[in-house]
Amino acid sequence: MGTLAQEKIRQFSATYLIKTVSECFKKIPDHRPNKCIIPFTNFLKSAFAMMHLKCDSLLAFDKERFEKVNSYNLKKLYLVKDGTVPSDTRMREVLDPVDPIEFKTPFKKLFNIVQRNGALKGFEFKCGKLKDHYLLPVDGTGLFYSGSCRCDDCCIINKGKKNEAYYHNIMGGCIVHPTQKTVLPLAPEAICKQDGTTKNDCEKVAIRRFLAQVKHDHPQLKLIILLDGLYADNPTIALIREYGWHFIIVAKDGNHVSLIEAMNELYDQGVVKHHTIVDKQKNTTHRFRYANNVTLNLQDVAEQVNVLDYIETDKYGNSHVWCWITDIELTENTVESVMRGGRCRWHIENQTFNTLKNKGYQLEHSYDHGEYHLATNFAYLTFLAFLVDQIQELACPRFQQALNKPAKPTRKRLWKKFPAYFLLC
Ligand SMILES: [Zn+2]
Repeated sequence: MGTLAQEKIRQFSATYLIKTVSECFKKIPDHRPNKCIIPFTNFLKSAFAMMHLKCDSLLAFDKERFEKVNSYNLKKLYLVKDGTVPSDTRMREVLDPVDPIEFKTPFKKLFNIVQRNGALKGFEFKCGKLKDHYLLPVDGTGLFYSGSCRCDDCCIINKGKKNEAYYHNIMGGCIVHPTQKTVLPLAPEAICKQDGTTKNDCEKVAIRRFLAQVKHDHPQLKLIILLDGLYADNPTIALIREYGWHFIIVAKDGNHVSLIEAMNELYDQGVVKHHTIVDKQKNTTHRFRYANNVTLNLQDVAEQVNVLDYIETDKYGNSHVWCWITDIELTENTVESVMRGGRCRWHIENQTFNTLKNKGYQLEHSYDHGEYHLATNFAYLTFLAFLVDQIQELACPRFQQALNKPAKPTRKRLWKKFPAYFLLC
């Protein structure tokens, strides 16, 4: 094996990826007035290790840190200086005031590793004239809800009433591709109370911060943003265009009455085009109905969009209907790619949020809520652990070997063996 290939493999190893995360942690300012014996980065590295090792709770991590395998890994792999791991109580106290924005840098650094080693190539999406673009589905999801427990970040519902309650949501976005099993999450954006405001945060405001961060971190990346119908409005589309990106957004009958009416009118005029593809192998029919340059709504400054209606009929005769708006020109040659791209929006639900909540990462699990930002920081670290794993699954031969060892590979099995797997490496 050539030196270049060996170097690529080295950069996709757990050791290198975790070292990259640790280097970023060194730049986070230590807020403690009295610097105690345990270095500040040991708190950050230990908290990341807890998420990466999929520990159920702070208490479980606290108990297991002295076990031979864990103790070895914490020192050698997670680079916890002298192996001095803080107690669960100290971990809560020290992580709580850290500004969550500090945890965004490692996402960019890890993404750069994927980029410079050519692993991003597998995510390139081609559609008509668009060659080297990447699909980025973005959406929000719930993290926490309580009638009693709250922190400074909490949004509030039923304020001042008997049933007042507190919640956190988070906005996530990943680079995806129709043929890729893995996803590459970019830095998430907490949907929580913002400094200096009394109003609750919401998804439509948070997406502006999320996209601004993406543009800041990856100014040259050519993106196609995939969104749910909630975001199919003039301001969001104008913002995506301003950043020089493209979009494929779900359109829904109830939310886009005038758009549907405009499509029907164009249909009556004979302007709407049709295209059908029959997949004989899968016995599935894809029917497309499309028009370019349709006015999105009746507002004064309405965006012009291209509309794609799509019906898939499977071998049992069952039909599924979708409708998207996009700025990609719709032709006989592009409608199938736009459809495949649009359907990738589900990767943020299925392969990201569902995995983070139900397949070992416990995104919704409350490790502890804290008074300031603890819950948000744990959520960011969970996403970060997920990104390290996804990069390894994408490009690390040793990780792939471990994941695929049994006839039916499961992540849960791998997470159980995870600590020992590192020790044996
Ligand atoms: Zn809170």
